Amino acid sequence: MYDLVIRGGTLVTPAETFTADLGIRGGRIAALGRGLAGDHSLDAAGLLVVPGAVDPHVHLQTPVGATQSSDDWASGTRAAACGGTTTLIDFVEPDLGASLLEALAARQAQAEGAAVIDYGLHMTLLKTPPAVLAEIQAVVQAGCPSFKTYLTYEGFYLDDDSFLSALESVAAAGGLVLVHAENHALIERLRQRLPAAGQTAPRYHARSRPVGAEAEAVERAAALAEAAGCPLYVVHISTDRGAAAVARARRRGQAVYGETCPQYLLLTEAELERPGFEGAKFVCSPPLRPAGHGDALWRGLADGNLQTVGTDHCPFFYQGQKDLGRAVFTEVPNGLPGVEARLALLYTFGVGTGRLTLNQWVHVCCANPARIFGLYPRKGTLMPGADADLVLFDPNAAVTLSPERLHENVDYTPYDGLALRGYPRLTLARGQVLAEDGAYVGPPGGGRFLKRAYGKDH
Ligand SMILES: [Zn+2]
Repeated sequence: MYDLVIRGGTLVTPAETFTADLGIRGGRIAALGRGLAGDHSLDAAGLLVVPGAVDPHVHLQTPVGATQSSDDWASGTRAAACGGTTTLIDFVEPDLGASLLEALAARQAQAEGAAVIDYGLHMTLLKTPPAVLAEIQAVVQAGCPSFKTYLTYEGFYLDDDSFLSALESVAAAGGLVLVHAENHALIERLRQRLPAAGQTAPRYHARSRPVGAEAEAVERAAALAEAAGCPLYVVHISTDRGAAAVARARRRGQAVYGETCPQYLLLTEAELERPGFEGAKFVCSPPLRPAGHGDALWRGLADGNLQTVGTDHCPFFYQGQKDLGRAVFTEVPNGLPGVEARLALLYTFGVGTGRLTLNQWVHVCCANPARIFGLYPRKGTLMPGADADLVLFDPNAAVTLSPERLHENVDYTPYDGLALRGYPRLTLARGQVLAEDGAYVGPPGGGRFLKRAYGKDH
């Protein structure tokens, strides 16, 4: 006898698609089979049953320049749950020279009791002094084996020497390094040159961060990671050349992983040309790219050369936050909302168009992020023993995206007006229904911090 049986759904795993009942006991998946009996049951006939989605790249309640991303732990995780995401990984951003462990404790305290889904944390490394690098082993032991580095952004970026120190320290501690790969010198030059020539509108944001800035930095990061013997995860790849650099490193046998995001798959830099200041809604880094790059990224996901789709959710209100850059694009806060619609966007525009199979969809949105970041097989799978984090996904639901339809705390969505075919009907976490037909119905603040370990399951 099970606590709950999900009856007659089409179960989708990274490897297989089959019809079965799914039995849940004690918040975990207990059995897959036929004719299972439970205290309660949910009819899933005609629905896909997939693992709760895992978003490996989210920025909630994060200071950016003079402002802060507009979703807090409560609103951002509720939005995630409504869209079928049951686990996310956010970031700890210690001040330069500050203790990593103290910053980790403070960030956990901020999320505890507010997050409604389970979460992990990546640790950000700045030009970290040796005394702080010495904490890396303890941070890994505290359940954060993944370390974020930036190769651009004033105040954040690492030169090659600092980046190598980070790679060597993290490799020695058995972790992996995430990298935001763009060429700092090239971008800084253009961020000064374009406004000085009167080119201040949002569309110049894209011109200030050319394709070559990403291509060069991904190649360099992979070469330095190879020398340091450190696994590398390249976040938010936006270009065909960035994806190709990851594929080359993987062919060499290196542990290099590539992530892309819905905005790079679905939108182009033409959005930045919108009249007035509307283009600011689409300012993110790396920037949206010319048409054609998206096709290469879809192919990368299908070929297995790119492993994951994260959102890089970092929302700012158009009115009152993106506004900060009315005078010049360099002052527009960088980031887009997106934590809620990822699973449905990838279904409509991936599975629905034949670019991805059902199983590849589950791979890139659920299983691979869990595997790479040490959450598998607790998350990202339907295997018995896993947490009963599930999405009952209606492949025929018709939903038109709008800010009103979504639960992100922000006054726009970059996907406004997109007509989707396929949307989550129910989201469950540890066997409990959190969201139903796009509305949050779960309890407040039940999300737990997930201790992770790198290197077991990928
Ligand atoms: Zn990010």
